[in-house]
Amino acid sequence: MLKKIFRVALKIILILILVIIVSALIYASPMIWNRLSIYPKLEKERKELHAKFKKPTDHIKQTDYKGVLHAHSYWSHDSRGVIKEILPAAKKAKLDFLFLSDHARSKLDTFPRGYKGVYDGLIIEPGTESSTGLMISPMNKVVLDWNLPEDQLIKKVVDSGGLVLYVHTEKPHRWANSDYQAMEIYNIHTDLLDNNDGMVPLVLNAAINGKEYGHWAMREIYDEQTVIMARWDSINKTQRIVGMAASDAHNNQNIRARYNKDGMVEWIGPNADLLATVKPGWKEKLLLSEPDEVGWAYKFEVDTYFLSFNFVNTHVFCDNFSNVNIKDNLVAGHVFIAFENLADAKGFQYFSVDDQNEVNAIMGDSISVRSVHKLKAVSPFPVQFKLVKDGEVIDKIDDVYSYEFDSKNKKGNYRIEARLKFGEEYIPWIYTNPIYIANQP
Ligand SMILES: [Zn+2]
Repeated sequence: MLKKIFRVALKIILILILVIIVSALIYASPMIWNRLSIYPKLEKERKELHAKFKKPTDHIKQTDYKGVLHAHSYWSHDSRGVIKEILPAAKKAKLDFLFLSDHARSKLDTFPRGYKGVYDGLIIEPGTESSTGLMISPMNKVVLDWNLPEDQLIKKVVDSGGLVLYVHTEKPHRWANSDYQAMEIYNIHTDLLDNNDGMVPLVLNAAINGKEYGHWAMREIYDEQTVIMARWDSINKTQRIVGMAASDAHNNQNIRARYNKDGMVEWIGPNADLLATVKPGWKEKLLLSEPDEVGWAYKFEVDTYFLSFNFVNTHVFCDNFSNVNIKDNLVAGHVFIAFENLADAKGFQYFSVDDQNEVNAIMGDSISVRSVHKLKAVSPFPVQFKLVKDGEVIDKIDDVYSYEFDSKNKKGNYRIEARLKFGEEYIPWIYTNPIYIANQP
């Protein structure tokens, strides 16, 4: 009798184990398929695309510096990022500048703080992010008072040479405020929020594919931000607000461990939360190895700084390489955004010419309808160009390196979207700021 019960119980346990294994395999099958088929194919196409690089002529006199706006370091409660991690990632992503947006630690927010200056050719500018969706780079020595009414604070910062951006533009903002200078038209974190399946499939996919295909795994969160783009276009009909991209890098969707000075091991989990501080046991003996430069003896990382920095960049055409000039040209709208993990966008230009074919305005500029002859764009890779006038696509051409549009006597805000072809699909790669053609510049 006992034997029989034991045999039945064993059978049930074996069946249960089998069911769990099969369910896990079924659950993970799309991620495994990514590894076996989808990502290798995409990667092959990406390499083929990169081989088509042709350096465009420099039409725009200013230099294109690319960087990341809106990123977090150790100064934020939800990041442990230090310069030893940030700098190599930024260099690998070929960034020229990094404007941080660390969460404030108190209502009186003192600047400068954290990192500021030029680090091995990378300009880092400290900034702050409020829970209400403001990013401020004061650029100066200042104490920001978060107790002030928001509009008052914005005006104060802008009047003293600082930069104010609206971030997390999926949330409500005072759009009609006349002082803020730019808004996010793309933010990785915003994009993540509309993924209804949550983090588990993304993390599992990263665990299976992250090492070899990190950028494709990260791109699983991508959706075209049509609502935000439509809002931006509509705001630009009445005021000029620059569109920029946010990485919102935290490097915090990780599990990591390090030794403390007293020999205890600190386990840090997602959102940089402390999971436990323990005496090294069998688990630590098994998992921990020689600490890296920063001190991590174990790490499983999903959203590394490199992957976030390389995902989407803001390109700014500048007169010189300084934090203030980057800020000034950002405010002037001499800006396009690009999804860099598809292809490096340096070389891309959008401008207008007069009847002598001389450049007389670039993205972000206003120009009189009397002096503009043609709008032109050039790309280092073949793209689908779309011309968007006041929010409506009015022209389109596929798979070419350059584009022009006869804009004589045609008022309006004209911006360019450039898409790269992967498979049968054209994927958004670049969004420029508009050239504003008006009666009076
Ligand atoms: Zn943020």
